[in-house]
Amino acid sequence: MTDQKFRVFSGVQPTGNLHLGNYLGAITKFVALQESHECLYCVVDLHAITVWQEPKELEHNIREVTATFIASGIDPKAHIVFNQSRVSGHAELAWIFNCVARMGWLNRMTHFKEKAGKHRENASVGLYSYPNLMAADILLYRATHVPVGDDQKQHLELSRDIAQKFNTDFSGSIARRGFDETFFPLPEPLITGPATRVMSLRDGSSKMSKSDPSDMTRINMMDDADAIAKKFRKARTDPEPLPSEEAGLKDRPEAENLVGIYAALAGIAREEVLREFGGGQFSSFKEELTGIAVEKLGPIGAETKRLMDDPAHIDAILSDGAARARVIAEPILRQTKEVIGLLTD
Ligand code: ATP
Ligand code: MG
Repeated sequence: MTDQKFRVFSGVQPTGNLHLGNYLGAITKFVALQESHECLYCVVDLHAITVWQEPKELEHNIREVTATFIASGIDPKAHIVFNQSRVSGHAELAWIFNCVARMGWLNRMTHFKEKAGKHRENASVGLYSYPNLMAADILLYRATHVPVGDDQKQHLELSRDIAQKFNTDFSGSIARRGFDETFFPLPEPLITGPATRVMSLRDGSSKMSKSDPSDMTRINMMDDADAIAKKFRKARTDPEPLPSEEAGLKDRPEAENLVGIYAALAGIAREEVLREFGGGQFSSFKEELTGIAVEKLGPIGAETKRLMDDPAHIDAILSDGAARARVIAEPILRQTKEVIGLLTD
């Protein structure tokens, strides 16, 4: 029961246009991990509603994230793809974790501070407690590995703190029931490669985001070749030529970002990119960057569109994935309740 070795869980919010940051920071890792691990990939719709979503758009976005997963190479038969709200255990375990996590822990979350900004008093309670739901997403399956972008590092640490506190607070009850003392594993973040934090094309100090109001800040997965070319052409850079070595990228966040994107798309190290383009102007580098981005994203965008023409097929995938997710989640949630002292059927 608690002895399963590796299980991968990760999620993407259906909050709008998926972008190059999501692809390089998360989805490409999801695809690669399928080779060696049992994986659950979740469209985290309950996270999306922590900020207002237009219901029709939300429906569309849930299907579009699913279609993008599949178009990118995630296999929903060999692994599990589903939308979070279909498995009620996520919300139930999140409530339990609301009672485990401490106010002081959540008060430290920089993500909330950034997202709520000046309108803190007006932010939803859900946006504040979102990291507890994220811990529940992972631990509902006793997942051990979580591929995410760099921006989720702090939330993963919180998930580990929650797992640890639960295991300690209930250690007596856990032992009495004959469970392993690590009732919940401490999940490991997998944050690797040259593009773990893709930055906005207009501002090298802020992350590329779905929720950024300006479309020029990001390359969307569904952008056509013209849009990709235009966005890279207008991407902010500095007046110096590209450096020939990595040290030359220091204090040049926009240059560093574009080099990281190229390296990740080409599957090579940043040094290699600089060896090839060092000393050159951004204009010609940007043309090469456009070429490789179109080559990678074009077929995924086209396949996503094709899948979106058959929403019933996507819905069937999500429904089947949720049924299989429930089979894993139900005993873990029941055991969790028993450990706490809640009576179950
Ligand atoms: P939102 O602005 O609505 O929060 P988002 O772009 O941050 O959207 P999420 O759905 O929150 O996207 O994140 C999905 C996954 O993509 C997470 O693993 C996250 O770490 C990763 N990710 C998001 N943005 C980037 C980025 N700019 N670079 C690398 N990874 C990213
Ligand atoms: Mg995000």
